[in-house]
Amino acid sequence: MYSFWEVLKISAYAAISAWSVQSRAGSLLKRWQPVKGVIRAASSTKPVRKIICRRIELALFTSKQYGFLRLLVNAAVLPVIFRGIAERPGAGYPFFVSILPYRSYSAYLKERYGVPAYRVAVDAGFSCPNRAGGRSREGCSYCEISGARAVYLDRTGPENLRMQVARGVEFLSKRYGARVLLLYFQAYTNTLGSVGELRRLYDDCLEMAPFRELIVSTRPDEIDGPRADLLASYRGEDFDVWVELGLQSVHDATLKRINRGHDSAAFFRAYDMLKERGIKTAVHLIFGLPGEGRREIMESVRRVAALRPEGIKLHNLHIPVSSPLYREYLKGTLTVPSPARHAEYVAEALALLPPETLIMRMTCDTPSARRGAPLWVPGKSAFSNEVVRLMGIKKERQGDRFPAAG
Ligand code: SF4
Repeated sequence: MYSFWEVLKISAYAAISAWSVQSRAGSLLKRWQPVKGVIRAASSTKPVRKIICRRIELALFTSKQYGFLRLLVNAAVLPVIFRGIAERPGAGYPFFVSILPYRSYSAYLKERYGVPAYRVAVDAGFSCPNRAGGRSREGCSYCEISGARAVYLDRTGPENLRMQVARGVEFLSKRYGARVLLLYFQAYTNTLGSVGELRRLYDDCLEMAPFRELIVSTRPDEIDGPRADLLASYRGEDFDVWVELGLQSVHDATLKRINRGHDSAAFFRAYDMLKERGIKTAVHLIFGLPGEGRREIMESVRRVAALRPEGIKLHNLHIPVSSPLYREYLKGTLTVPSPARHAEYVAEALALLPPETLIMRMTCDTPSARRGAPLWVPGKSAFSNEVVRLMGIKKERQGDRFPAAG
């Protein structure tokens, strides 16, 4: 179903576009009366055909004084037509109407801020308790040594944090003309430290640009009451705080198998702490972890869906060449889901998720030079088109199977 605002937006676009086209076409054709004859000849006693022909005739030949009336008629009629097009299985959408069968994060940001918003990703030099001792020294079995960093961080190397923020802001402003910026603590475990240290660090970065959000990526076992309180203290009427929380799977056997260093109970505890404080949460899941098939994956999706998180990131298992899992992969004891299979998983997962949850990611994007498997991955838009196509075939939209039975 479309929201009131979506319908309003479509109506306005449709009316204005059609009005403009009609005015131009009308002024050209007005003097060419045979066109009217052709339209009348095409008309018949069949009601639908008659209405369509009459509508075309009115649109092309009504005098300008009825322009406003046409505008209103279009506002009422065209959204119905577009809706018909949009809901055809596998159909494309009119170029100016962004209607996907799922709630995209980028569309949400544009809606919220009126223009595209960009994340300034920083690496604050945090470590990970699962790699640097504490929980373990091995890390999660799919984790690569270099970790994920933004493009401009790879080029600049380890610099002080203020320099990274300045470079990030400059890069995004120059390349994309970014006007809305979100501060994103991305690499490793960004709540690993005392409340005082974390406060100094977040404050230091936030004061460097008029950021509109603070986004912190972390592990569930590094969230506790005081740290959740600190994060909540940044919340404001016009300032959101998000935490990206890695769960990956609700199955403890899988978490153990991939050496996550925490169980699912730790995730649910952390999630509750964040929720109680009004912090928005995006949950990470990985599809295709060792020992998991469709049944286990959808069970994870159902359990997360029941929490109604604000956002979700769905990843397919990528095996970086520098990860411990790659050694297993080379022995031939492991497979990863193909992109086609992952698209099927995602399409099903979207139907199970609540309609309001933002879909922040649907695939992993490890660069090919660092990726051992899968060898080939489709581009992001090709992948999302495939998911839309699959959902179209089933005539499903996000949330259609939520809440899931059983
Ligand atoms: S994936 Fe994240 S939590 Fe796991 S070892 Fe790597 S940095 Fe740590």
